[in-house]
Amino acid sequence: MTAVPTPDMNALWMPFTANRQFKADPRLLVAAEGMYYTSHDGRQVLDGCAGLWCVNAGHGRRPIVEAVQRQVAELDYAPGFQMGHPAAFTLAERLVGLTEGKMGQVFFTNSGSESVDTALKIALAYHRVRGEGSRTRLIGRERGYHGVGFGGLSVGGIGPNRKLFGPLLPGVDHLPHTHNLEHNAFSKGQPAWGAHLADELERIVALHDASTIAAVIVEPMAGSTGVLMPPQGYLQRLREICDKYGILLIFDEVITGFGRLGAPFAFQRLGVVPDLMTTAKGITNGTVPMGAVFCRPGIYEAFMSGPESAIELMHGYTYSGHPLACAAGLATLDIYAEEKLLTRALELEGYFGESLHSLRGQPNVIDIRNLGLVGAVELSSRDGKPGARAYDVFLECYRRGVMVRYTGETIAVSPPLIVERQHIDQLVGTLGEVLRSVA
Ligand code: PMP
Repeated sequence: MTAVPTPDMNALWMPFTANRQFKADPRLLVAAEGMYYTSHDGRQVLDGCAGLWCVNAGHGRRPIVEAVQRQVAELDYAPGFQMGHPAAFTLAERLVGLTEGKMGQVFFTNSGSESVDTALKIALAYHRVRGEGSRTRLIGRERGYHGVGFGGLSVGGIGPNRKLFGPLLPGVDHLPHTHNLEHNAFSKGQPAWGAHLADELERIVALHDASTIAAVIVEPMAGSTGVLMPPQGYLQRLREICDKYGILLIFDEVITGFGRLGAPFAFQRLGVVPDLMTTAKGITNGTVPMGAVFCRPGIYEAFMSGPESAIELMHGYTYSGHPLACAAGLATLDIYAEEKLLTRALELEGYFGESLHSLRGQPNVIDIRNLGLVGAVELSSRDGKPGARAYDVFLECYRRGVMVRYTGETIAVSPPLIVERQHIDQLVGTLGEVLRSVA
């Protein structure tokens, strides 16, 4: 493909981007097929990140394209308030089916951030409709990422994301994060050390009293803050403490949902069932914005006991269950099923993990971690400037035809689940060359 001219860039305020730096040296993607993007300067770039952890079935999948085309021609939009359309119900049923009876209903949103704020609101309202309205406190975790809505930002635990925006929600506490290089550096899969960190929840309960606490939200595997694997036994411990005190446990599976860890959802791989689960991204293979909050049986029912004419939950979005998103979601689930992609990470985890760990000993590498088809290489910081080295690695990988992600001093990789061994070799091979060249 020939080069595509760069447009005038001033009018777009880019999200989570160093705008001035980017506009001085732009990286534009103009096409995508399978495992590769095409860049505006006409190069093939291996997608080492499944877009932003969302294109799990790879790019340019015809059945999704065609389903969306058919849907937009047939029913372009339908209101979701006091109205419905069949595909939303069908998709909800298929999604619930992936949980093997562990979840009962889904509530549709348009993004991960909306899923998180929806789940937090459902948790608060659930206690209230059951007569436990004193449960209003929310508990997140340091280094948690739950999107950018005020709810998600409040329970999120990333200082730089929060600091421009004032006090955020009141009544929020944070558990300590679980990342610890002293005990867990270079662990494969779930690290051995750290289950006891969940006991901090007991301390928060003792301080505020269980009767004030509505929910705990964590990512089963924290993605955006550097790919932090849950220590063995940690999530089980959180579940036990939540059960003991009647606190709802929310898993934010926006990244881990739809096969990233080798099961449809991380809760199935990790063996701990949450009460609410937030998803987005892979639900439509990244093609049409959509999110879904899953509720464990009993939650929806708690809202259904008032007068039948009453709207049970005063919440929703103009585009909840949008027909195009539903069409994309159904076609995506078909591909996941036909190609057995939701368990494919299990097959490739060994090869992927060993490849990544072969980078141990490369310059400045202080940790490597992996689980399913997600991995991270953490670097020492340069001249006390956190992120500077990883940014250079990200740029140089892109120049050499591989897209990785960087967050802080961590390089994160999460290829589409259709990845083959040769792509893993290209990804890790290029990363190794780059680590040596930027040293
Ligand atoms: N939760 C988690 C765990 C995420 O990783 C993300 C996005 N990376 C979000 C929420 C927010 O999703 P979105 O950007 O679609 O709002």
